[in-house]
Amino acid sequence: MRKKRSILRRCISCREIFDRVSMLKITHENKSRILINSGIGRSAYICKTKNCTQDPKLKKNLQRALKTNFDHKFYEVFIIETQNYE
Ligand SMILES: [Zn+2]
Repeated sequence: MRKKRSILRRCISCREIFDRVSMLKITHENKSRILINSGIGRSAYICKTKNCTQDPKLKKNLQRALKTNFDHKFYEVFIIETQNYE
């Protein structure tokens, strides 16, 4: 079996540390667009739980972490992406 080194990231909502592969990555690419699980640039990580992705304070935390304001369209995509988390 290939040895895999895990990369740990802190969830911006609950502040717990998880393996990066089990987290949702939000990237502010080129200071222009916001991408989910792709892109290069300033990124924030959220664990894939209902608790964190539907936290009412998450939007504020994310905008602060990425140093940007989200447009309405991004948040709609985000809600669709995270709606099935438990
Ligand atoms: Zn979390």
